[in-house]
Amino acid sequence: MIPFIDLKAQYRALEADIRARMDKVLEHGQYVMGPEVAELEERLAAYVGVRHCIAASSGTDTLLIAMMALGIGHGDEVITTPFTFIATGEMIALLGATPVFVDIEPRTCNIDASKIEAAIGPRTRAIMPVSLYGQCADMDAINAIAARHKLPVIEDAAQSFGATYKGRRSCGLSTIGSTSFFPSKPLGAYGDGGALFTDDDALAKAMREIRAHGQDRRYHHPRIGINGRLDTLQAAILLAKLDRFDWEVARRQSVGNAYSAKIAASCRSVGTPAIASYNTSVYAQYTIQLDDRDEIARRLNQAGVPTAVHYPLPLQRQPAFAVLDCARTSLVEADAVAARVLSLPMGPDLEDEVQDRIVASLCAAVSQSEKATI
Ligand SMILES: *Cc1c(COP(=O)(O)O)cnc(C)c1O
Repeated sequence: MIPFIDLKAQYRALEADIRARMDKVLEHGQYVMGPEVAELEERLAAYVGVRHCIAASSGTDTLLIAMMALGIGHGDEVITTPFTFIATGEMIALLGATPVFVDIEPRTCNIDASKIEAAIGPRTRAIMPVSLYGQCADMDAINAIAARHKLPVIEDAAQSFGATYKGRRSCGLSTIGSTSFFPSKPLGAYGDGGALFTDDDALAKAMREIRAHGQDRRYHHPRIGINGRLDTLQAAILLAKLDRFDWEVARRQSVGNAYSAKIAASCRSVGTPAIASYNTSVYAQYTIQLDDRDEIARRLNQAGVPTAVHYPLPLQRQPAFAVLDCARTSLVEADAVAARVLSLPMGPDLEDEVQDRIVASLCAAVSQSEKATI
């Protein structure tokens, strides 16, 4: 079986550096908020091009911290996309607020900015677009709507760290950017992690405090917070991985583009990812669209090609949200796309000939399934 995401090849390339950096942490012993955390925050802020980076325990906790810093709570509403990982809507609901879902643009699978304004009401407190599969939502359009209504924008950039939008980096495009260092994300740790980005000094201070139990100095707590810190060992691993990250981002783009060219050349009925002209994607997932998705996934699996569905159920269909009034407008595009998407093995270390085998298996599975339906 081809690995769906090959993290071992990356480890082999970085092993000496990762081990040396971990050893240093084990020697100095500052396992929580050690010097590597501050060093990582500095490097990530410079990379994104914002004043503040706050490293945290996961890309779920960063969404929670961001919304707590904005004072979002019971009775409030946050506008977001239904076509995302559960965490996006889940953290809104955890705070007692209601996620209000706005339908997606079916080609990019990102929130349809032209439909946001109609969903804004007196209880709306923020807009939270997701930069899905590694490419940014149309952030300028979203920011313009938000500015008209004096709303903050949180970019859930868990899948898009390293991507650019009109030449600017994801995470630095709105009030707050939030990303994840889950191992399989474009920049992954060896456990859970995440980071927040902002140019707003007051929000940065609030998020820093909330990350550590709402304290401004030891045992003094002006606000309620959480235990949301990033482990020093994970920061050390991420510092080592950052040295290879530019190369990985470039590879991700060329592997993604090669997939699209190869698929377009040999099985044209498959929908390849649409990357907006102003975007570069880091292809957190390489996700195609197909009529007979489940049958083709089954055939690919038989051929030794693993696949995944991101995501089989849009959030308005999740039982966890059934009690909330989240789906006030038509979400037909999210429903339609959920039945069609299929993610293929992807990563910076995916070799050319392995990719050729995957595409050949895909095209064989598609033509078998087309014959079966005729
Ligand atoms: C992965 C992901 C998250 C959550 O990140 P974790 O680090 O796993 O908590 C949130 N939103 C999106 C869109 C994600 O893909």
